[in-house]
Amino acid sequence: MYFDTHCHLNSDELYDNYELYINNALNHEVENMMVVGYDLQSSKRAVELAKQYDFIYAAVGIGPNDCLETTEQDLFIIDEYLNEPKVVALGEIGLDYYWDDVPREKQKEIFQKQIEIAKKHDKPISIHCRDAYEDTYQMLKLHGHRGIMHCYSGSAEMAQRFIALGYYISLAGPVTFKNARVPKDVAEKTGLEYLLIETDCPYLTPHPFRGKLNEPANVVYIAQEIAKLKNMEIEDVARMTTFNAKTILGIK
Ligand SMILES: [Zn+2]
Repeated sequence: MYFDTHCHLNSDELYDNYELYINNALNHEVENMMVVGYDLQSSKRAVELAKQYDFIYAAVGIGPNDCLETTEQDLFIIDEYLNEPKVVALGEIGLDYYWDDVPREKQKEIFQKQIEIAKKHDKPISIHCRDAYEDTYQMLKLHGHRGIMHCYSGSAEMAQRFIALGYYISLAGPVTFKNARVPKDVAEKTGLEYLLIETDCPYLTPHPFRGKLNEPANVVYIAQEIAKLKNMEIEDVARMTTFNAKTILGIK
């Protein structure tokens, strides 16, 4: 029923007990998950999990906070992983001006190079964007392609601009937070045909579990909040967001 389109079972926090978290997910009707890499080790783990479970898919990539020392050889490894059929996307990649751990020019260079790799394989990209919406938009407009705005935290108006470029809008835990006016506004104003759901676990645990470790089973709370905001049945939100996820990720 549910598809958690962005989880980190490959993170140190969850990886030791991934069987437990996968079982919890299945018990909550979370039938598909995409495990997303952010550096070489997490990408390798994502590929291994996707090979082990037929309902798990992988994305591989080097994120903006982990690309300070990224080399051509590292990008070649990412390129090679994309030959795997269960690797359905390249990501997470993008720009992060909040942490600003890596010079912006370097972030842009590694981002752009990975967009080119994704295009070569004709696979979508999963975008990490924090406090960098305008630059990310310009990069995507310039270099084209299609994908997912993961854990989208921009405005509803900005979401329409990304949708026009071929991107889906993925909502995570913050949409459930009481005072999170902006993501709730995005959920209300964005057509369900452009929305995805995700946990981004182990981070961003939704209400009512804030403060605890997040896991894929909690994606149900994201769907529940969207259903409430849109005045729809949760089953319809689940069905449509799963359909959207399979469409953008090219899953039959
Ligand atoms: Zn992530």
